[in-house]
This record gives sequence, C-alpha cells and structure tokens, in this order.
Amino acid sequence: AKQRGRRNWQCYEAGMGAQVRRRQFLLGRLRRALAGNEFFLVFQPRVALASGAVRSWEALLRWDCPDGGAVSPDEFIPVAEESGAIVPIGEWALREACRQFVEWRAQGLDPGSLAVNLSPRQFAVPQLAERIADILAETGMPPTLLELEITETAVMEEFDSAARTLEHLAGLGVGIAIDDFGTGYSSLAYLRRLPVDKLKIDRSFIGALDDSPHDAAIVRTIIELARALGLTVVAEGVETESQLRFLHGVLCHEMQGYLFSRPLCPSACAQMMRDGVRL
Ligand code: C2E
Ligand code: CA
Ligand code: CA
Ligand code: CA
Repeated sequence: AKQRGRRNWQCYEAGMGAQVRRRQFLLGRLRRALAGNEFFLVFQPRVALASGAVRSWEALLRWDCPDGGAVSPDEFIPVAEESGAIVPIGEWALREACRQFVEWRAQGLDPGSLAVNLSPRQFAVPQLAERIADILAETGMPPTLLELEITETAVMEEFDSAARTLEHLAGLGVGIAIDDFGTGYSSLAYLRRLPVDKLKIDRSFIGALDDSPHDAAIVRTIIELARALGLTVVAEGVETESQLRFLHGVLCHEMQGYLFSRPLCPSACAQMMRDGVRL
C-alpha cells in the first residue's frame, strides 16, 4: 500500500509539473502575442425570440499561438487574467470589435448591436470608462450600439467603484449585461442599484434544461424576475430544439448557441447579414 501511495504521489507531482510548465509557456507567449498580431476575433449571432432575426453579435477572442497551436479562451483567458495581460488584450479586443462593427456598417450592412466581454481585472483599471469612451471616439463606434458583458464577480468585489464606473458607461449610452448569470453570488437586490440592461443566463442552466426540472425552474424564475425589473434576458448555449421550445414557452427575449450558429469569422458574418438570414 505504501508503495502504491508513493507512485500515486509521483503521478500527481508529474501532473502538476506539466500544468505549471504549460502555464509558464502560455504566460511567456501571451506577452508577445499582441505585438505579434496573434489574436483575432470571431462573432456569434444572438437571435430575437419572436422573429429569429439576428439582433446582435458577441465578439469572442481567438489566439493562434505560433508554436502552441490554437489555444482555447477557457485556457488562456484565466492565465491572462492572473498575470494582468488581459488588460491590454481586452482593450485590443474592444477596439478591434468596434472597428469591425463600424466597417460592416460602412459596407451598408446592418449588424444590429455589438457585445464585448470585459474581464473583472479590466474592470478594476482606473479610468476604465474614460478609456472606453476614447476607444469609441477613435473607432467611430456608436455608444448605444455597444453592450459590455461583465460578470457578477467583477461587480461584487468593489461594489461602490464598480457602480460608479457602470453609471459613467451608462451615461455614455453603453448597455450593460451581466454574463454567466446565476453562477456567482446572484442577488437580484444589487441589480436594482446598478444600471444593468440585460442578464445572460449561463449555459450550464440551459444545458441542463432537458433533464433537470430544477434548472427549468431556475431559468423560468430568472426570466420572470428579470421581466419584473425591466431587464432583457439572453439564454446562452442553446443547443437543442427542446431547449428552444422551453425558451419560447417562457418568453426568453434572445438566444445564442450552436443550434443557431457557432461563432463565425467576420466575412461569414457579413454574408449572413447580406442574406438577411433568420435563424
Ligand atoms: P462567455 O463570455 O460565456 O462566452 C460564451 C462561450 O460559449 C464562448 O466560448 C462560445 O463559443 C461558447 N458557446 C456559444 N454557444 C455555445 C453552445 O451552444 N454550446 C457550447 N458548449 N458553447 C457555446 P469561447 O469563445 O471559447 O469563450 C470562452 C470564454 O472566454 C467566454 O465565455 C469568456 O468568458 C472568455 N472570453 C472570450 N473572449 C473574450 C474577450 O474578448 N475578453 C474577455 N475578457 N473574455 C473573453
Ligand atoms: Ca460573454
Ligand atoms: Ca456567458
Ligand atoms: Ca460562460
């Protein structure tokens, strides 16, 4: 037994070592990735319940690391957040998303509105609202067509300063959505004290809809409360027809997920806008 215990420990250590090395590798590469033009954006359409028309697009970051292949955001975003690299990377993503959006409109297309993710780490940067206002002015992005997706964690850590930043952004006309709603310290009470427009129900709830009555109850309750507070609800990660039927039944406002479309490269998005596709 003693022998086996030691062997397990060695496996565990080796596993940890690999993880730490991978992290170090990514950290080193991330530092050079912006200058090396290794990032690009894809956009996932968000569909209106009633019409199936594409209402908006969420910009999602992709990284083509030269000697690491395509690294998923779920792997590199946490590393970028921990190291602070997410601050310049996130600003790049916002600027690039706005630039692309304005370009679509200049081509006579109607992309509706644009959603961009903001990490909690960015949220703590002083003068965030001013920096965002500068990016909007620089790119010619209409503030009322931009929506920033933030998480509950970002808001709850420093509530008062977060509230001031959000007030400032809302004052510019920028929309605010709470991402991954239901996974953090959900308290609908705090929402009343913030200029929030939208809740995005986390895809873990949507994924469980088909076989969990509890999750169905949670989703229904979130939608009812949101409606009572005058907020719009987006369901993310919609993958099946039966999830869609449920969301229709509870009058969820907007939907996003592989059932409609995966995130697409900008030219595929433009084609979809040109064709006026209903999903
Ligand atoms: P998120 O903001 O919750 O984005 C939704 C994620 O779900 C995206 O993964 C999207 O591709 C994926 N998704 C959409 N529909 C479906 C579906 O039907 N099924 C499944 N299984 N997944 C679906 P992605 O692009 O890999 O991004 C992962 C996370 O990385 C994002 O989660 C977000 O937290 C973060 N992220 C991505 N881009 C940015 C960025 O520009 N800035 C920041 N701060 N975070 C970002
Ligand atoms: Ca998001
Ligand atoms: Ca989300
Ligand atoms: Ca998520």
